[in-house]
Amino acid sequence: MKEIIGHSSSFFIHLSFIVLLTFCTSPDKKNQMNEQTKETFYAMEDFNSVRKYDAHVHLRTAFDTLFIRQAAKDNFRLMNVSVYTSPDRTPEEQENFSLKIMDQYPGKVAYATTFSLEGFNQDDWESKTLAYLDKSISNGAIAVKVWKNIGMELKDEKGELVMIDDERFEGILKFLTEKNIPLLGHLGEPKNTWLPLDEMTVQGDRDYFRENPRYHMYNFPDLPSYEDQINARDRMLANNPDLRFIGAHLGSLEYDVNELGKRLDQYPNMAVDMAERISHLQYQAITNWQGVHDFLVKYQDRLIYGTDLRTGASDIQAKGLTQPEEIMQHSHEVWLRHWEFFTTDEEMEVPKVKGKFKGMKLPREVVDKIYRNNAEKWYPGLNQ
Ligand SMILES: [Zn+2]
Repeated sequence: MKEIIGHSSSFFIHLSFIVLLTFCTSPDKKNQMNEQTKETFYAMEDFNSVRKYDAHVHLRTAFDTLFIRQAAKDNFRLMNVSVYTSPDRTPEEQENFSLKIMDQYPGKVAYATTFSLEGFNQDDWESKTLAYLDKSISNGAIAVKVWKNIGMELKDEKGELVMIDDERFEGILKFLTEKNIPLLGHLGEPKNTWLPLDEMTVQGDRDYFRENPRYHMYNFPDLPSYEDQINARDRMLANNPDLRFIGAHLGSLEYDVNELGKRLDQYPNMAVDMAERISHLQYQAITNWQGVHDFLVKYQDRLIYGTDLRTGASDIQAKGLTQPEEIMQHSHEVWLRHWEFFTTDEEMEVPKVKGKFKGMKLPREVVDKIYRNNAEKWYPGLNQ
């Protein structure tokens, strides 16, 4: 055996020498190598030719259709997400707008519906909500969104906060499970919310919570903690193992890829979108590039690209952008920067993160899953 190994290794050394020689001298071989790199990885210039989804945007007015126009140029299709924040903007209104733009831009937009929390403490709330969702799904909604007001604002008849694992949501969750309609859940907030502004890890969070102090939980120590929010979500998942669940914003576990990995292991029917939290992956990449890279490869079937683009977003506000061309250019730049992060190994600096980090240079098939295949798999209605 020893002899064979000895023999074969010297043979291979000899062979590699020949290969090296040929490689150094033959332009043909060099071209072949370049071809191979092209097949395995995308480059910046592939951005336009790859069909992509941004599976989490908020389009509310005719003005916002500028995102659809830019998306068409950049080869993106969009999922417009309805959010119930208050009775001032009803789910019906939001749905009507989605249906209108879907008509106007066929094949370019899909939408996730939501439901009202008005009258939550009344007996007929559940039946009304189920009827609304049923209608909304037959109108074309491919998912249902719940927002952080469940857990942070909604109160029961005793004045206690209602969390997502409350039994009064069970009928709705069962209904979605039966219909195989995914629940898109923005539950809890980034962990930064429980820190003072100057200790938050990324600029996006500092801007958002400065502008929205009512969600800056550091100032409300009596309200449920970060862990309380995550635990309620996890209990809901444990109670509904067959529900297809997409955790918006990296499932509110944006601060640590290992913590997120644990949940993905624990709940096989859970995926996450990356909306407005890619900066948290970039922040972690400053000190733990390998960990972030390995996470993205390991969970390549569970990650869905999204940005949370909307005209009111804090980065657009902070830059004072108001003109359609400026906003279109902004969304183009956001999309391009993310593409650079996922496909290249360039050293990068971005507005939301202090410090330099290297791009992830993910294999093509992983990039395809993050930008397209996973969206189509986890939102079965997307491709119809
Ligand atoms: Zn959003």
